[in-house]
Amino acid sequence: MSLDAQYDPDNIFAKIIRGDIPSVKIYETDSILAFMDVFPQSEGHCLVIHKQATATNLFDVDSRDLATLMAAVQKLARVVRDSLAPDGIRIAQFNGAPAGQTVYHLHFHIIPVYEDRDLGAHASGRPADTQGLEKTAAKIRTAL
Ligand code: 5GP
Repeated sequence: MSLDAQYDPDNIFAKIIRGDIPSVKIYETDSILAFMDVFPQSEGHCLVIHKQATATNLFDVDSRDLATLMAAVQKLARVVRDSLAPDGIRIAQFNGAPAGQTVYHLHFHIIPVYEDRDLGAHASGRPADTQGLEKTAAKIRTAL
């Protein structure tokens, strides 16, 4: 998928927003959704998206939507920090397949980093079990 790809309204995250496929949600407003990554690279790896902005990547998002999204990323990063006490937090965002993007609805990763644990691979391996994700999401929600 190139940097100039057209937004596909049937991408996985659009389906999650519509409720067509399930997700483990952490936080939702009229414009923002934060949910657990199903292939987590660490405990608490979650994603933050804008629900109305039909942007594939950073280059085609309206700057006001981006500002709303970034404020939510900061909020969720604080919540993850407060609830899970990681040693560091990586914020990641990929643009285009060559850069590692696999889902073409603009999103930010919040990836807690723990000094004594290695990070898993990006978007691969076996999906996490929903019960485990629910448990971590419940922990994160306590700090909202
Ligand atoms: P990207 O590679 O586009 O930066 O990130 C997409 C992320 O979405 C990956 O980390 C991948 O694990 C995650 N992902 C892919 N499919 C699903 C899904 O169906 N549900 C959830 N919750 N995450 C997904």
